[in-house]
Amino acid sequence: MTKKLKFPIYLDYHSTTPVDPEVIQTMLPFFTDVFGNAASRNHEFGWTAEAAVEKARGQIASLIGATDKEIIFTSGATESNNTALLGAAEMYGSKGKHIITSPIEHKAILDTCQYLEKKGFEISYAEVDQYGQVSSEAVAKVMRPDTILVSIMAANNEIGTINRLSEIGALCKSKGVLFHTDAVQAIGKTPIDVQSMGIDLLSLTAHKIYGPKGVGALYVRRKNPRVRLAPIIHGGGHERGMRSGTLNVPGIVGFGKAAEIAKRNMASEPEKLRALRDRLWKGLSSQLDEIFLNGHPTERLPNNLNVSFAYVEGESLMMGMKELAVSSGSACTSASLEPSYVLKAIGVGEDLAHTSIRFSVGRFSTEEEIDFAIEKVVSAVRKLRELSPLYEMAKEGIDLKSVQWTGHH
Ligand SMILES: *Cc1c(COP(=O)(O)O)cnc(C)c1O
Repeated sequence: MTKKLKFPIYLDYHSTTPVDPEVIQTMLPFFTDVFGNAASRNHEFGWTAEAAVEKARGQIASLIGATDKEIIFTSGATESNNTALLGAAEMYGSKGKHIITSPIEHKAILDTCQYLEKKGFEISYAEVDQYGQVSSEAVAKVMRPDTILVSIMAANNEIGTINRLSEIGALCKSKGVLFHTDAVQAIGKTPIDVQSMGIDLLSLTAHKIYGPKGVGALYVRRKNPRVRLAPIIHGGGHERGMRSGTLNVPGIVGFGKAAEIAKRNMASEPEKLRALRDRLWKGLSSQLDEIFLNGHPTERLPNNLNVSFAYVEGESLMMGMKELAVSSGSACTSASLEPSYVLKAIGVGEDLAHTSIRFSVGRFSTEEEIDFAIEKVVSAVRKLRELSPLYEMAKEGIDLKSVQWTGHH
């Protein structure tokens, strides 16, 4: 474990993950020797490609308690989310025009919902609590007789909060409403089972579980109920007519392998990640005051740590620790730096939201990297706070809210 540190240290596994070497090895032959089109029914090249795709379908299905035929391949979770929402809206729109989601979903859900709103659907946003959880009660509160679909994420990509999907699934089942979940971040880190959780549609992507970018999947339930989706991409009728287009065979093979590894590691990897994440939090919180954990204290992804460092601008902090690859709680929009809509929705004030950093550890993170990160963050925060008059005043016990500012408009 005395590997030399390589910089920058990657602590942004929620954004994407490197491809596992075992996954690459499995993919390689499918670019050269075994290059067939899985839809070619007349020769061996096609058959071999098809067999490889079907194997991957099984590997992915097995990770979420589904059957092979219920997995539809896509270009990633953005497309899976679009297919689930647009496909269900078109197929079931004559039954009702109401859809429920939450305000802290990924943009691939929120933007698709906004589009559906323009097309005559009504969207309700179930309330999230201060930890970013959506309860089944919150969903029930906005449920209507014309609700056709509920889409609530399994785990949030910014704050790591895990939702109690079984409770939401049971509610949807009792009302005869379809339940979709964006499970991109949860896969491989917390158990997901479409049967026990009452999930009808589920989005996945390879590149968040050490597979390649540009390949994803959508689970579509075939029994109790049999879910039907109108396709958003037409031509050729691949993937049970729900997603036409020549399959990305190497990508799918890699995705399958990544799913197999994730399943194999379920007993050990989440614990390893949790230990590293806890080590990071302990290191930071024992040396710095005025720092706050965002998200749920216990029901959170084992690899996620989202922290507000009061009196320190997140962007400046990142500039002060360029050896670390992390994400800030702000997003650059056209003209200004907007605080994250997720932090805003869970009630983190604008000031604190701007001081937030998201750390996420992964399969290739080491204790040495975490220890370096702790040292780096602590010194960068201290340096910036030394320059902060507000921090100085707070330390001297001055109540900042009572200060009469002059020279301000
Ligand atoms: C990354 C991510 C997506 C988008 O997946 P792509 O495959 O990159 O399109 C969707 N939802 C969540 C929660 C994500 O973290």
